[in-house]
Amino acid sequence: MRIVLLGAPGAGKGTVAKMLTDYDGSVQISTGDILRNAVKAGSELGKKAQGFMERGELVPDDLIMDIMEARLQEPDCAKGFLLDGFPRTIPQAEALKKLLVKINLKLDRVINLDVPKDVILDRLTTRRTCSNPDCQEIYNIKSKPPKPDGTCVKCGAPAVQRADETVEAITKRLETYNEKTAPLIDFYKKEGLTTTISSLSSEEIVDQIKKAVK
Ligand code: ADP
Ligand code: ZN
Repeated sequence: MRIVLLGAPGAGKGTVAKMLTDYDGSVQISTGDILRNAVKAGSELGKKAQGFMERGELVPDDLIMDIMEARLQEPDCAKGFLLDGFPRTIPQAEALKKLLVKINLKLDRVINLDVPKDVILDRLTTRRTCSNPDCQEIYNIKSKPPKPDGTCVKCGAPAVQRADETVEAITKRLETYNEKTAPLIDFYKKEGLTTTISSLSSEEIVDQIKKAVK
């Protein structure tokens, strides 16, 4: 399947994308993961992106489009892709539209994960992420804890709080989402692509997505 996952930080895009990958082999493309790996590797891209990310601001559109233009043309995308965290702005959505025409692909659906703000805040402050770039398993200290010593159940690397998971950065990310990304719900509604899902269970969300793309 070829879908875009929209939703505030903490809405569950990453978790749902990982489950859908297991379901049909579509690749999860998370611009957040790509950028965090670039920061860790100290690459040119990482150096350009780091400050924006730590402040909870968006990385400039042209940097993101360079990444995505290359990424969407890699061979593993032939099985389908789940865009997690991209597009994030109207200009990115416009650029994606052009890019898809150029590579002759169509989106099946745009899934809008609609989660109440109190749930979002609670999830973000209790979230931990595996620090192994090849794993990046997501934990929650209340509902899905890492091992008692704080390491990842899957790979043993430390599960850590992200640099942008301070209260200030979280507040900023939510503001940025409302201002810059939420307008995409209507953008894709006009294209007849938006499906809004309000469930809080990832299993139920995945089921509804499978139905929506059929
Ligand atoms: P979340 O959805 O939990 O906020 P992500 O992992 O998707 O986090 O993104 C983390 C950070 O990476 C964002 O706050 C932003 O700085 C940057 N980022 C990720 N994707 C994009 C994008 N498509 N456009 C601009 N910045 C992005
Ligand atoms: Zn791990």
